[in-house]
Amino acid sequence: MKKDTQCVHSGGIFDPVTGGVNTPIYPSSAFEYRDRQDVPYPRYFNTPNQRVIVEKLCSLEGAEDGVLFGSGMAAISTTVCAFARAGDHVVMMDELYGGTHSFATDAFARLGIAHTFAATSAEAVCAAIRKETKVVVIESPTNPLLSVIDIRKVAACCRDKGVVSIIDNTFASPVLQNPLGLGMDVVVHSGTKYLGGHSDLCCGITVTSTEKAKTIRDLARHFGGVMNAQTCYLLERSLKTLALRMERQTSNAGRIAGYLSERKEVKKVFYPGLAGSQGHSLARSQMTGFGAMLSFELDAAVSPDDCLRRLKLIRPAVSLGGIETTICSPAKTSHAKMSAEERKRIGVSDALLRLSVGIEHVEDLIEDLGQAMG
Ligand SMILES: *Cc1c(COP(=O)(O)O)cnc(C)c1O
Repeated sequence: MKKDTQCVHSGGIFDPVTGGVNTPIYPSSAFEYRDRQDVPYPRYFNTPNQRVIVEKLCSLEGAEDGVLFGSGMAAISTTVCAFARAGDHVVMMDELYGGTHSFATDAFARLGIAHTFAATSAEAVCAAIRKETKVVVIESPTNPLLSVIDIRKVAACCRDKGVVSIIDNTFASPVLQNPLGLGMDVVVHSGTKYLGGHSDLCCGITVTSTEKAKTIRDLARHFGGVMNAQTCYLLERSLKTLALRMERQTSNAGRIAGYLSERKEVKKVFYPGLAGSQGHSLARSQMTGFGAMLSFELDAAVSPDDCLRRLKLIRPAVSLGGIETTICSPAKTSHAKMSAEERKRIGVSDALLRLSVGIEHVEDLIEDLGQAMG
């Protein structure tokens, strides 16, 4: 089946009582135990509504099994801890999502796990692997500069050295990039973004092999970061339109990236879909579309605060991946905790704005951006 069809059909359960075409919501936390092996219980990650989502994501990502969590960070923290323990070392990237970055700096020390932040290149990530390294965590494209890293190369060197390779695939979504097929071991998503897609729910998911999913689920049962049946249903409903949304959002983003690169008020546009951008050829080789996130740096003559204030349709908001277009200043939101020098080092200037492109008509979005800049 193709992605669009998988989004609609994979995993769903027809209502056995009425023949309804939608998965019924099974809210029970107590289930009859006689004559059955795997008794459902929400914190065991095995209730019907949770399993429907896992099956849909497994079919979209080409995975065997997975675990659905109550947030992206629950997915990431549980997954990393499932493969690294005290005395082990983890390699991460400089440009990881802020929450993952602070998880490493704040929580690893308590757990006795050492870590290294490597620069955003396959070579730097592979070179940071030591003999105690058990896990590598990467992202591509990255936030907020949309850098693209060679996923096949990272996967191959992790495999050579017996290290578990994990990728946060949130920005690409399972419609545009399938890292397991490129050799990665584990894929995580913050489902709060494109999977949910309507800025109204929080969740995370990990998909991988049967064996690794079991290891993650065993630990997850202790940590307990689950999602309830009602939210699972909302997410299942959203997933049915994921491919459709990504198609529109990606095409809007491509048009906007082209428009912005021609405006004199814009110094630089960061979007892997632009020919000549850092990650363009790599993105072509590992993604089926360039995604709906882009960033741009305003010229010194335009104040980013004024620009945000003048926007009428596009709302300044944190988070991303919704059907509505939102914008943010990474220096004031996702990267506010970093020192100004550190931000400068990784290339996040105060004039940088990050756009999460939605499904509106692209001409309305372009008109709004145009009037706000000038
Ligand atoms: C939002 C986000 C997360 C964290 O997800 P939550 O659902 O907020 O816990 C992780 N990685 C990326 C790339 C994100 O954008």
